[in-house]
Amino acid sequence: MSQPFSIAIHGGAGTISKNDLSPEQEAAYHLALSEALAAGYSLLEKGASAMDAVAAAVVSLEDCILFNAGRGAVFTKTGTHEMDASIMDGAFLQAGAITCVKQVKNPVLLARAVMEKSEHVMLSGEGALQFAKEQQLKLEEETYFFSQFRYEQWQLVKDEQTIALDHNIKTEKKFGTVGAVACDAKGNIAAATSTGGMTNKNYNRIGDTPIIGAGTYANNRTCAISCTGHGELFIKAVAAYDVSCLMEYEGYTLQQAMETVTLDKLVKINGEGGMIGTDANGNVALVFNSEGMYRGWQKSNGEKVTAIYQ
Ligand code: ASP
Repeated sequence: MSQPFSIAIHGGAGTISKNDLSPEQEAAYHLALSEALAAGYSLLEKGASAMDAVAAAVVSLEDCILFNAGRGAVFTKTGTHEMDASIMDGAFLQAGAITCVKQVKNPVLLARAVMEKSEHVMLSGEGALQFAKEQQLKLEEETYFFSQFRYEQWQLVKDEQTIALDHNIKTEKKFGTVGAVACDAKGNIAAATSTGGMTNKNYNRIGDTPIIGAGTYANNRTCAISCTGHGELFIKAVAAYDVSCLMEYEGYTLQQAMETVTLDKLVKINGEGGMIGTDANGNVALVFNSEGMYRGWQKSNGEKVTAIYQ
């Protein structure tokens, strides 16, 4: 039996205003978002699972240098790249996450391997890298993750005691964490998120992205959520799980619950950012409290949209 299916993606939220992007840059973002949507949606169309769809969409975004995940990951305070990712299957409440990982080309696939091939939910650093090798996941040299613009971004803030959402750095406001949520034709939902974190973060700093319930959550009874924004605040707000709780215990719709968390609760604690969500009926919502969020969605009713600004 087939029901409405859908996918939504994000490429980060932050100070992204129309004046900051040239028409060519804007077009490049729309194209990258469109390709990531297609990677996930084409699988859903063939009857694949929401898990397969979110993994494929996030891999596409991780491979694109425009976004702060995988190849385009930002620099830490010590000039390295440390990546975080997580994935959750709403049908079985299974989850996998990795944090502070280097060299792994597609961190989301490592998170999925932790979920499917280990007895654990989260692996970090050297242990996660060792596991990636055992699973024969693709590794890359440090140079693969080097990009001149991210290096310049880091140079701007590296002597300050600050961390920055990479899209909020004054000269570069165009890059972000990535994520996907999907509802498949069987009514199963899933969420995945992947990031290089925040520019100039302390080495071994862990944000919300790999934390189940903070940056990522999925439960067929409520919603699948992927967040982007100032991770410390999303952790304190237990943002993704709070949306699920509002739906489960208060009977909120997906849209109402996401607006309550993003536009009220997070705003009150200065938690800048946004989130994307789906429920098991194929409804999709994309909500953010920042100037912009790279985003897109596609539904089995024919709707396909990519967008950047409010
Ligand atoms: N949430 C991510 C983190 O704090 C950053 C982002 O979404 O851009 O690591």
